[in-house]
Amino acid sequence: MNCKEVERLIPFYLNGELNERDTKEFLAHIKTCESCYEEMEIIYMASTGLERLESGSSIDINKEMHRILQHSEKRLKKRQIITRAGMVINTIAMIAVVITLLFQIDLWLNGGMPEASFFRSIFGQRK
Ligand SMILES: [Zn+2]
Repeated sequence: MNCKEVERLIPFYLNGELNERDTKEFLAHIKTCESCYEEMEIIYMASTGLERLESGSSIDINKEMHRILQHSEKRLKKRQIITRAGMVINTIAMIAVVITLLFQIDLWLNGGMPEASFFRSIFGQRK
C-alpha cells in the first residue's frame, strides 16, 4: 500500500469501515510513514477534534491516535485468532469426514465382511 492509497483510506479507517486486510496494510504503513501518520492526525482533528473542542473538553491528539491504533491492532489480532481457530476446526472436520468415508468405502468393498477389512489388515486382526 502506498501513501496515496493510505491517505485515501484514512477517513474510512477512522470510521472503522476498513476490512481486515486493508486495516492490516493500513497499520503497517502508518506505523512506518510519518507523513501519512501526520495526515491521519490532521483528519482526526478535523473531524472528532473540532467537535471535542466545541464541547469544551480538551484533546490529547497523541494519546488519542495511540489509543485508536492500539484498539484496531487488538481487534485485528482477535480476528486472526478466530480465523485460525476456524481453520483448525475445519481441518479436524475434514479429517473426520475423510476417515468416515474411508471406513464406508472399506465396508462397501468388502461387502460388510469385517474379516476382509482393509483397516483390520492394517491395524491387525484381533481374535
Ligand atoms: Zn505514507
